[in-house]
Amino acid sequence: MVLKQIVIATTNLGKAKEFEKILGGDIDVIVPDDLPLVVEDGDTLAENAYKKARSAADHLGRLALADDSGLFVHALGGVPGVHSARFAGSGGDDAANRSKLIALLHDFSDRSAYFATVLCVCAPSATIEEAYFFEGRCDGYLLDHERGSEGFGYDALFVPSEGDGRTFGEMSSSEKAVFSHRSRAIAKFKISLSDLPG
Ligand code: IMP
Repeated sequence: MVLKQIVIATTNLGKAKEFEKILGGDIDVIVPDDLPLVVEDGDTLAENAYKKARSAADHLGRLALADDSGLFVHALGGVPGVHSARFAGSGGDDAANRSKLIALLHDFSDRSAYFATVLCVCAPSATIEEAYFFEGRCDGYLLDHERGSEGFGYDALFVPSEGDGRTFGEMSSSEKAVFSHRSRAIAKFKISLSDLPG
């Protein structure tokens, strides 16, 4: 049976819209309003995505999809990585996260970095081995100052290598979607829809 609907385990409406934009027409995106809180303490994006998808699937009794993303900076050995959201503290303050990154990179000439997203699709009670994973990545480099006010997180610092020199923060959401790690992961998921359980 072909998958017709998918529950997206997120409270972030911006993300839900991104899913709808790419999947709309092929699949109904459902955003539940009562998901249990999940502690994102995995060592990898995949572990965190699985924890969120599994928790939602168990709670709702149906297949669920969740994602986890992060920024990986080569000069810092992959930091902030899975800790991207709370890099500067538990408050999850985007501006403080960007300031901390600018300060840490001050003495480095290697500014290369990439964003990565892992999507996990999971059925109720499924083990991590039984779950499905889709990855997307966007390579680029980081500026030493912010440019642009679109987007969120580290967007104002990140210039995708395949772009025209603008940061993600200087792009509209449609322009960013051409390169973004999340769009690429969602596109892989879309291609695999017919292989997933209905
Ligand atoms: P999440 O798992 O998608 O919520 O991402 C975790 C953190 O990674 C966010 O809070 C941001 O700090 C950072 N991040 C992930 N994706 C992006 C992006 O597309 N632009 C900027 N920052 C991002």
